[in-house]
Amino acid sequence: MRVIAALLLDMDGVLSQGDRPLPGAARLLATIQEIPHCFVTNNSVLPPQAVAERLASMGLARPRSRQIITSAEAASRWLARQKPGFRYYAVGAPGLDLALRRVGVADSERADFVVVGEGPGLDYASLTTGINLLEQGARLVGTNPDVNVDTVEQGRHRILPGGGALLAPFALASGVEPVVIGKPNPLLFEMALEVLGSSPSDCLMVGDRPDTDIAGAAALGLGTALVRTGRFAPGEPWPAELPRPDWDVHDLDELLAAISPLLPARGARTPTGR
Ligand SMILES: [Mg+2]
Repeated sequence: MRVIAALLLDMDGVLSQGDRPLPGAARLLATIQEIPHCFVTNNSVLPPQAVAERLASMGLARPRSRQIITSAEAASRWLARQKPGFRYYAVGAPGLDLALRRVGVADSERADFVVVGEGPGLDYASLTTGINLLEQGARLVGTNPDVNVDTVEQGRHRILPGGGALLAPFALASGVEPVVIGKPNPLLFEMALEVLGSSPSDCLMVGDRPDTDIAGAAALGLGTALVRTGRFAPGEPWPAELPRPDWDVHDLDELLAAISPLLPARGARTPTGR
């Protein structure tokens, strides 16, 4: 990249692990405060406002809601484009329903889409309702493909089922091929670029997962940086089938040192949301 005019930041494993900020996160966010940036996450559990509050409670940043693109938000926008006023049956945490409700109508009997996201919601009854709607012709949509996700509960690392794992029983039982919205699908990135008014080649995506963050952003022509503070550990060999990132660093401190010369000079910056 010749210049970095905008940034997209993944959150879990990049800025924080559970409720603990990761090294360099506060410094990077302070540095890019006046450079357009968005937070992009495959997590569909929390609505943007709650994500913003979480960043603030860790002392990292106070972003506006529109700067936060979750896979649930991206899914609701995609669905509205497919069919304005769509009817849906949602399975997942309340954040998903909250996002869909603004542009669609919940309907467990005549849904156009069965939408599956992360968090609690999947059980025998919801799976049964979902596969019968699919049998009637509804389309199957997943918020994100992650098979599992990391979390920290009471100081202990835990693995939770991801959107991909929760979506799988619907696809298996119905035989319907799902559309999956989150990274590496370009939709989430495209939405963030739209919000920022940035072209892909001037925008840097910072993530911790080669298969979603890096592969998805690279396919759209964004610059890419991998930090090894999340899923992908220091020393782990790069998956041969995936494109290499422009930067492959230990943490955000190392990244900031590397990209500083490419950031716009102070005074020549336009804050997000122009
Ligand atoms: Mg991540």
